[in-house]
Amino acid sequence: MDLNFDRNHVWHPYTSTLEPLTCYPVSHASGNQIHLESGETLIDGMSSWWAAIHGYNHPQLNQAAMKQLEQMSHVMFGGLTHQPAVNLCKKLLQLVPSSLQHVFLADSGSVAVEVALKMALQYWHSRGESRPRFLTLRHGYHGDTFAAMSVTDPENSMHRLYKGFLPEHIFADSPQTGFHDEWNPQDIEDFQHQIEQHHQTIAAVILEPIVQGAGGMRIYHPRYLQEVRKLCDQYNILLIADEIATGFGRTGKLFACEHAGIEPDILCVGKALTGGYMTLSATLTTRHVAETVCAGEAHCFMHGPTFMGNPLACAVAEASLSLIENGEWQTQVQQIETFFAKNLPQLQQYEMVKEVRWIGAIGVVETHIPVKMEQIQAHFVSQGVWIRPFGRLIYIMPPYISAADDLSQLVQAIESALQQPALFSLAE
Ligand SMILES: *Cc1c(COP(=O)(O)O)cnc(C)c1O
Repeated sequence: MDLNFDRNHVWHPYTSTLEPLTCYPVSHASGNQIHLESGETLIDGMSSWWAAIHGYNHPQLNQAAMKQLEQMSHVMFGGLTHQPAVNLCKKLLQLVPSSLQHVFLADSGSVAVEVALKMALQYWHSRGESRPRFLTLRHGYHGDTFAAMSVTDPENSMHRLYKGFLPEHIFADSPQTGFHDEWNPQDIEDFQHQIEQHHQTIAAVILEPIVQGAGGMRIYHPRYLQEVRKLCDQYNILLIADEIATGFGRTGKLFACEHAGIEPDILCVGKALTGGYMTLSATLTTRHVAETVCAGEAHCFMHGPTFMGNPLACAVAEASLSLIENGEWQTQVQQIETFFAKNLPQLQQYEMVKEVRWIGAIGVVETHIPVKMEQIQAHFVSQGVWIRPFGRLIYIMPPYISAADDLSQLVQAIESALQQPALFSLAE
C-alpha cells in the first residue's frame, strides 16, 4: 500500500496533517483477528469502536449483504419503502421497551443524536412552548456534529474552539458513584438543582446510560438513572438515552437502561447496529412524542438524509439482530465480564494505575499519566494485539466471540505496557 500517499493526503480521525502518527495497513480481518499487510496478526480489543460485536467477516452478515446487493444496494426512502427497512424496524421494536413505537433511520451516531435533539425541540414547538435548551452531564460524549458537540463535555471537548457557534446548554455534575459502589444520594444533587432551576427552558435531558464512553469510560450507578427518570417525569421533561456505544449487549444487558429498569422517551442506537459492517443508526421514540411532533406547524418531522434507510445497511443490521436474538451474546458477554473481574484487579498493583473498572464486555485501566500514543500503539502491535488508548485510558471492548486465550493476550499486553514508563508521557 502507498503509505506515503496515506500520510500526505488521507485524513484519519482526530489527526494532524503536519505530524501524522503511524497508521498500520490492514489487509483483511476475520473473527476477532485483524491481519496487517506486514503479515502480522492482531487480536482485536476494540471491536472497531464498539461496532464489530460478532467479529469481522461473519458468514451470516456477509451472506445478508451479498443477497441484498443482488436486489439493490440503495433506493431513496422518500415515497418508497422496502423489505430490509421494514424487517429491521420490526426486529428493533421487538428488542426495545414496548413504549418505543416509531423508528427514524439515520446514517451515523452523531446524526441519530441530531435527530433526537430535533425531535425534542419540535415536540415542544408543537406544544407552543419555547424550550431551546438541553440538560446533560459532564464527561458525556454524543458525537462530532454541531448539536452533538454542544451536549458533549465542555471541558474535554471542542467547546472552546467553537465558542460562538455552539449553543450553550446546561451541564450537571456527572455521577461519581461507581456501578458496584453503595449509592451516594449526593450524586444526584447537582442534576436536581439544575433541573429545578431551568426546567421551563429545557426540552430534554440527554445522557449515556451507565457508561459514559469517549468522555472518560466512566461506569456509574443505576440509581443515578432512576433518579434522572423520576426528575424528568416530575418536571415533564423528555429523556433521551444515547445507547450508541452501550446498545446491543455491550454492558451485559441488551440496553444499558435495563440495569436501572427505566425507559427513555427517545433512544439512539448506532455503532453495533450493523455488527460493525456499515454506518447506520436509529432514533426511536414513543407514539406520544411522534404524534405531538407531527401534529405541529410543520405537520411532519423535519429530517430526511439522502441515504436514509439504506437497504444494504438495513439487511446487514437485520442479520446482526438475528444473531443477537439467538441469545448467545449473553453467555459470551458474561464470560468476558467474569474474565475481567478475575484478571483486571491485579493490574492495580502497578504504580502507573489509578483505577481499573469493568462492566459487561468493557474493561478499563485508568492511568495517572497519559499514554504516548505512537509508542504505546507500536508496543501493542508488537504484542500482537489491537488496543487504541486515549489520554489516561487504556480500555478494551473486544468482540463478544473472543476466546479466553485471546482475552488473556489482551490483558497481558496491557500489563506489559504498564511496566514501561517510556510508553507514558511524563509531561503532564
Ligand atoms: C460514537 C458515539 C456517538 C457518535 O457516533 P458516530 O457514528 O461516530 O457519529 C454518539 N454517542 C455516543 C455515546 C457514542 O459513543
